[in-house]
Amino acid sequence: MLVTETKAGRIVITDIRDIASSRQYINKESPSVTKPVKKLWAKQREAVDIEMAEKIVKAGGIPQELLDRWRDLTFLFVWGEMTEAWTKGIRVAGDRIATKVNRIQRKQFDFNSTMQRIKDWIDHHGGRLIANLTAGQYTTMYALIQQQITWGVTSPYIMAQRIKPIVGLTVREGMAVGRFMATMIEEGVPANVLKTQVDRYAQYLHNNRAMRIARTEISDAYHQGQLNSVLQARDEGWLSGDPEKEWIAGGDNPCEDCLENEGAGPIPIDQPFPSGHAAPTAHPNCKCDMGYSVRR
Ligand SMILES: [Zn+2]
Repeated sequence: MLVTETKAGRIVITDIRDIASSRQYINKESPSVTKPVKKLWAKQREAVDIEMAEKIVKAGGIPQELLDRWRDLTFLFVWGEMTEAWTKGIRVAGDRIATKVNRIQRKQFDFNSTMQRIKDWIDHHGGRLIANLTAGQYTTMYALIQQQITWGVTSPYIMAQRIKPIVGLTVREGMAVGRFMATMIEEGVPANVLKTQVDRYAQYLHNNRAMRIARTEISDAYHQGQLNSVLQARDEGWLSGDPEKEWIAGGDNPCEDCLENEGAGPIPIDQPFPSGHAAPTAHPNCKCDMGYSVRR
């Protein structure tokens, strides 16, 4: 049996050699999130039509109906395409673990991707993503609207044109676009050039953010799938000993938290790592992986 690799008295389920297949999965599946998240932002932008811009100018802020619309669209995305991508990532990773367990143990363990633990994870994680996606939006847009008003913008048309590119960006990104806009306006750049440059810059930030969200979310789901599959295998008695997990810090420049997690070595599967996480990711853009083994 080729896969019955043992090292220092343990049977390896996954280790550093499996990173390539998780990477490949995350890369291949990213468009299933980047596309819908960009579509979400496009729809949220469309909600800022001239009529809405008039209300924005009049109120000097964001009308409740616009916030509601943005929130509804975010719900649809998170409980729709996003949940689909999570579910698939969990299933694929969980099935891969089951294949390994069965090869090692010559058993018929079948990963159940619809168990309550996974439903709970999706519910909790989805709620957090919605909060994340909506929290910054209000602050950023409000600040930008104030900035436009300070600059004397009273035309709904210009207001819409100026704030639309910011929809979907984080506070920091939105502020960066605001500063970029301010510099160009000070320099007296013509309106059409300003619009092209701002749109281009914002689009660059949108692309990066969409990619960051996609990679992080798919990686989260993948690692939840692995973890839950090993847990299930253990609970159902398919493993010949106690499973342990090992954090594998990834990327060119892993952060201190992730290195500390790696430094913790193999730990019992139910235990959190020093950062408090049960599995990667520990933060956006975290490229870490997980090794699982069974102590004999
Ligand atoms: Zn990491």
